Amino acid sequence: MDNNLDSLIAVSDYFRSNENCKAFLIQQRWNNTIECPYCSCSKVYITNRGYKCADKNCKKKFTITTGTVMENTKLPLRYWIMAIYFSSSSKNGISAAELSRHLKITGRTAWFLLQRIRNMFANNAPQMLDGTIQLDETFVGGKNKNRHRDKKVKQSQGRSFKDKTPVMGMLQQEVNEFIERPHKIIKDRIVKEKIILREAIIRCKVIADTKTESLQPIIRANVKANSIVVSDEWFAYRGLNNKYHHYIVDHAAKQYVNEAGYTSNALEGGWSIFKTAIIGTHRKVTRKHLQLYVNEFVYRYNTKRLKDGARFIDAVSKFTNGRITYKALVA
Ligand SMILES: [Zn+2]
Repeated sequence: MDNNLDSLIAVSDYFRSNENCKAFLIQQRWNNTIECPYCSCSKVYITNRGYKCADKNCKKKFTITTGTVMENTKLPLRYWIMAIYFSSSSKNGISAAELSRHLKITGRTAWFLLQRIRNMFANNAPQMLDGTIQLDETFVGGKNKNRHRDKKVKQSQGRSFKDKTPVMGMLQQEVNEFIERPHKIIKDRIVKEKIILREAIIRCKVIADTKTESLQPIIRANVKANSIVVSDEWFAYRGLNNKYHHYIVDHAAKQYVNEAGYTSNALEGGWSIFKTAIIGTHRKVTRKHLQLYVNEFVYRYNTKRLKDGARFIDAVSKFTNGRITYKALVA
């Protein structure tokens, strides 16, 4: 099916009715065997508005959206699904203003919808990273004159400008190997081909500041012991050696690959994609909401090798991730 859901026209066609949306979500959530979300009983009655658990100790009513990001929504499911499509398929994300025009909903509704979808993209049960991990922070927002990365104040207290928000990033490097094979046309020529054994993945967190106490607990909670970690010379990374093999790339000395061949280039590349999305699409994001935008970027980065249709289905299937209330979002 994912081959068919790889364009706007295919998606809007397929999800043209609420029944189709429901059927799709039932398949994604329960693999077509409806299950009570309260007691996991699979004996349920169909009611006018949804389902009722048949277990005599439970008897609770529920619907396909109970306990999901779409719970208690007033919007038709089609709007959710289209919003997830726009959010997961656009390279730099979609702004609330754009979405409100596409779906003919208010800017406020569009904003809330997108924030919930970003919350749904949060990786709730992440595995520990291992192998070689690039570590770096970036700074988001602030005055225009402070936007350029090369103006980052590396060795100053706090390493930041007061008006910018730091984001910590950890990138688990791609694992690849080169194989030799005959050239496809010229048979007697041997060529080297890169085979990717494991895709790079990224994990990011908005932090209060870039001090040791802010950075290291996140690294230690996300990266397996004895992994290789690569960072720049920032003092807050000192001491990682007691758990990891720590390599330093000295950016202050204009070094981008150190003597042992380690770099943090992949993560730097990730930051530039992230900033393009933030500055280009959303223009201004407050510190309070930044983590949600970070989630969206991380999701897109970690699924970048998926085809559009497959990514869309993967994104929709995350609807069972917990809901967030309007109250919590605007609090
Ligand atoms: Zn039940």
